[in-house]
Amino acid sequence: MENLRKKYLKKLKRIVVKIGSSSLTSSSGGLDMENLQKFTGEISKIKDESLEVIIVSSGAIAAGLKYLNLEEKPKKYSMLQAVAAVGQHDLMRVYSSFFYKNCKKVGQILVTREDTSKREQYLNIKNTIFSLLELNVIPIINENDSVALDEIKFGDNDTLAALIAGLIEADLLIILSDIDGLFNKNPKLYESAKLISVVNNINEEIERIAGGIGSSYGSGGMITKIRSAKICSFSGIPMIIANSREPEVMQRILKGKNIGTFFIPEAARRITSVKRWIAYGMIAKGSIKVDEGAEEAIVYKGRSLLPVGVIEVNGNFKKGDNIIVFSADNRMIAKGISNFTSEDINKIKGKNEKEILGNFGPDLCCEIIHRDSLVVF
Ligand code: GLU
Repeated sequence: MENLRKKYLKKLKRIVVKIGSSSLTSSSGGLDMENLQKFTGEISKIKDESLEVIIVSSGAIAAGLKYLNLEEKPKKYSMLQAVAAVGQHDLMRVYSSFFYKNCKKVGQILVTREDTSKREQYLNIKNTIFSLLELNVIPIINENDSVALDEIKFGDNDTLAALIAGLIEADLLIILSDIDGLFNKNPKLYESAKLISVVNNINEEIERIAGGIGSSYGSGGMITKIRSAKICSFSGIPMIIANSREPEVMQRILKGKNIGTFFIPEAARRITSVKRWIAYGMIAKGSIKVDEGAEEAIVYKGRSLLPVGVIEVNGNFKKGDNIIVFSADNRMIAKGISNFTSEDINKIKGKNEKEILGNFGPDLCCEIIHRDSLVVF
């Protein structure tokens, strides 16, 4: 197993490390200074070995609760956003002082789902990260919980970390948590649970196993980590889940030691950066359902999506919006940028080119989603 890991960890240049709330907080609540010191010390050593490191850190809300002496998360959303505002600041203060002791500088980037949905802003995130790296500063990223809209939040930093890893074409994503990795059953309930060392294929069985395993503090749990492994895999990036409290966890991971769970990426599926943005950065504004013929054309033949294969349109979307493509039996098969409004697709769905030309003229006559703007999952 170690040799297999080493194969993927041979030429690392840039890594993203996500650390969850459960790793940053102590059992009594508040920031776990000991673990933060360990974590920042390990990152500093890695940086000294000339590796670029980008941190995605949770913990704002947990830190804010302690700072404000609150026992539990407020129910009112604006109050929770205020807690995050206080906690994010405190969290960065602690990061900054621990890294300072290791002669390292940090910079904060806070992003919302809406920021990643707009192409220019999405690229700005990347440019800022690269500029920070050029300045030898460690970027520390979190969701901007104080302004994010509840309905369209990332909600968990596992997904955000995978998106960032894809955006900056990282060579590895390390997810540090309060659990040793993915087990074949819930280790909190079953003593016989065994750690899965390597996952080659994130199939339904893996998702089922992950379904029941949560975390005490963060928003994620195992299921969001598996989702992020899928994003990484699709982007050609290996991912590891490991326990943040293991001694020298990151050094050992990078040496290819058999620790945590290692997710092997799909080798042949590296998608272009525009397609990564379409798939994971953009927020979908609606969906369409297609018949079997259209499914075969886009999934197996790499074709564009034509009006004739569309059987249903859902939502109210504009030309240029991101839409999800469902199969006739309701599987999400693709995502892409629509060339038409939902209203127009309703007019032309199920019709062939001749019928569309005859009834509506050339303006409504072309692909609904061009294959260059279509990501097939
Ligand atoms: N952004 C949240 C925070 O900083 C954490 C989200 C998560 O737990 O993944 O508190």
